Amino acid sequence: MQAEIISIGDEITSGQTLDTNSQWLAERLGELGVRVLWHTTVGDELEANVGVFSAAVERANVVVATGGLGPTADDLTREALARTTGRELVRNDEALEHIKCLYARRRWPMPPRNEVQALFPEGSRMIPNPTGTAPGIAMTIERAGRRPCHVFALPGVPGELKEMWPATVVGLLREAGAGRRVRRHRRIKCFGAGESNVEAMLPELIRRDREPRVGITASQTTIILRITAEADTEAQCLAAMGPTVATIRECLGELVFGEEDEELQDVVVRLLAEQNKTLAVVEWGTEGLVAHGLASADKSGRNFLGGLVVTNLAGLHSALGQSDEVLEAHPPTSRETAAAMAAACRARFGADYALSVGPLAEASSDGKVPPVFLALASESGVHLTEPPMINRPALRRVFYSKWALNVARLVLLRTDRV
Ligand code: AMP
Ligand code: MG
Repeated sequence: MQAEIISIGDEITSGQTLDTNSQWLAERLGELGVRVLWHTTVGDELEANVGVFSAAVERANVVVATGGLGPTADDLTREALARTTGRELVRNDEALEHIKCLYARRRWPMPPRNEVQALFPEGSRMIPNPTGTAPGIAMTIERAGRRPCHVFALPGVPGELKEMWPATVVGLLREAGAGRRVRRHRRIKCFGAGESNVEAMLPELIRRDREPRVGITASQTTIILRITAEADTEAQCLAAMGPTVATIRECLGELVFGEEDEELQDVVVRLLAEQNKTLAVVEWGTEGLVAHGLASADKSGRNFLGGLVVTNLAGLHSALGQSDEVLEAHPPTSRETAAAMAAACRARFGADYALSVGPLAEASSDGKVPPVFLALASESGVHLTEPPMINRPALRRVFYSKWALNVARLVLLRTDRV
């Protein structure tokens, strides 16, 4: 089954409201094994709606629309469906009764305009809406020589949509043949290389016609490989994805740090706990991202001892105790300062490891961005790293914070590839 989701409303096309319904519906359809191939967004304009519905009914066999079912003149979904299918709009007495009851319960007179919400294209079914005045519409549209198309029009109000979906739509979709196949996803997460480098390391895997399918996305400098399988059962999906996950792990080695919701800080805290080690951090320019990540990951408070967040040299001096001659003799952005920061932080906290990040200096007037140094101090000395530059200023803090966590992860894995 291939589905199209149609989101209707000027508030969506103008960017005033974020279309969260489409995301929610796409996930629900995926759970029923229905592949969503199209997301369409259209404003409150009748001709445009008829065009969108006609195209969707032609190419998809499941169409789920949200929005445009209100009582006002800009709510056009009923009319658009009637025109698309060449059917008349007829009054549904059960729907009218429901709307009247809702008003009676609220002790409000029912505005005559709301009667339009009881109009349905001939031959369609009502999808009850227990909490709102806009019932949904379910229609089956026959197509010559092909399987019919199942159309579900739901209100735009997210709370109503989410109630109506399990109560009625899922059952209708199952009757139409959905849910016989299951679709499942797995996410493999990598850090330390760009999207195209990761792709180049995975020959053949990103091919579109491959099963299970592998997609690659970058989110906040983490590269995510998303594997999707479709089968009769969840167990079969997972079994089908196993070899692909193994190939990815083999090709990418230590670039892979985790799966699903796992983040770098979770891995670092897990490795620290396994080895019964402690870590502290000092950071300058990252707004405390590293400490924040570690503090949220270490619920026990046993392995992450704490973080110092400094914003200038004076702050660094007082955070790390009395002035240090290294800090006096070298500029803040230097290998020596990074190493001294990590070593002093380790001593101050009495930790097994200490990470230093930053400072993240701004670009100078000639546009040059100074390098950033990271250091990890341990009992065997200080390990210094100069990560590559990142061009997007908005991602600098998150990138260097993740790089620092990744250094800690790789050291804890006892590798020399940091
Ligand atoms: P409507 O059914 O078109 O009258 O929509 C009612 C309200 O639901 C709108 O004012 C929005 O606040 C919300 N809404 C409509 N469509 C969406 C959507 N696709 N995603 C999230 N909220 C929506
Ligand atoms: Mg609307």
